[in-house]
Amino acid sequence: MEPWRCPIRPGGDRYNDFRHLQEICVSFGDPGAENKHFNTNSVRSFRLVLQVLDSTLREGELFRLYPSDVRVRVASRLADSGLKRVELTVDYPPRTSFREVVPVVKALRDRGVEVVMHGRACEEDIEAIRRYKADGCALYIAVSRLHREYKLHGISEDEVIERLCTAVRVARESGFGYIRATLEDSSRIYLEDGEEGLAKIANSIQRLKESGATIVSLPDTSGLLTPRLTRDFFMRASTSASLPLAAHFHNDYGLATANTIEAALEGAEEVHATLLGIGDRNGIADMYELVATLEDVHGVRTGLNRSSLRELYEYFSRVTGNRNTLASPAFQRGKDGQGGRSPEHDSQKEGGLHPFKKTGERLQ
Ligand SMILES: [Zn+2]
Repeated sequence: MEPWRCPIRPGGDRYNDFRHLQEICVSFGDPGAENKHFNTNSVRSFRLVLQVLDSTLREGELFRLYPSDVRVRVASRLADSGLKRVELTVDYPPRTSFREVVPVVKALRDRGVEVVMHGRACEEDIEAIRRYKADGCALYIAVSRLHREYKLHGISEDEVIERLCTAVRVARESGFGYIRATLEDSSRIYLEDGEEGLAKIANSIQRLKESGATIVSLPDTSGLLTPRLTRDFFMRASTSASLPLAAHFHNDYGLATANTIEAALEGAEEVHATLLGIGDRNGIADMYELVATLEDVHGVRTGLNRSSLRELYEYFSRVTGNRNTLASPAFQRGKDGQGGRSPEHDSQKEGGLHPFKKTGERLQ
């Protein structure tokens, strides 16, 4: 068999990049929106809305556990910002307790937010998830060779998928409307096994569908992909997948947000992000950057209120001590002589050259 070679190489003819970009932008753009500068008839598909899932109170807890009152406040403000799906983690005593998580679930559900509880693909976690009466559950297990050998004591690929299918069947019998099956570290399978790996992923998705899963997450658990590789991975995976896909990218090389955008443009129907991009190690996609870019550049509607999100960023930054970076579009720069020496570029001034929409203030 031919050794696997990544199809995307500098100077290769796999893509005519610019033409490809045009096709994507139009296919996801709102016909009534302002981004008419992408003018082509090469429409591949059409979608108006993308589901953004906030994972600040799940993935973010891997970074730092916040006091209960802060978690409830953040949950409420996420709802006020227009988030419709928020993920929480099932309690893992003694680090967290059922009693502490319940008010967070309540704050979200009272505001009409769909709550997804995240846990391992095992009976014990599903039992714990059931107690919350959440809307959905997200069950994960690692599928790559590396994780199977070192984390799961060398179990086979088939056994891993069977465990996940069994957990999904239990979740379905429990009556969850949303059941996400996560193939942890699946980007490594794509990188290591290429076409063969993609075929395995497609086969696993079919088995999960037959077991009752409603969506499958293909996370870049170790942050291994670049935007080019992400585009190829999600284009191929979404073509062969029998279920909607979720995108979850880690930021080990600082590319999580860019990769999440690429996955969305290649067909992922749910994208994961956190406030300030917090999460395990270097975090995951940043909520504000993701939403601003998808909406302003690609014309994808997310349903989020940018002004509320900015206020939430300021609150979160203040109460958690996580300082926002100079690079974030969520915070104004160039004011009062701070953060910039080219006032003509300041989007807050009349005639500013930078995208004025990104801060949300002028969106009203
Ligand atoms: Zn993660």
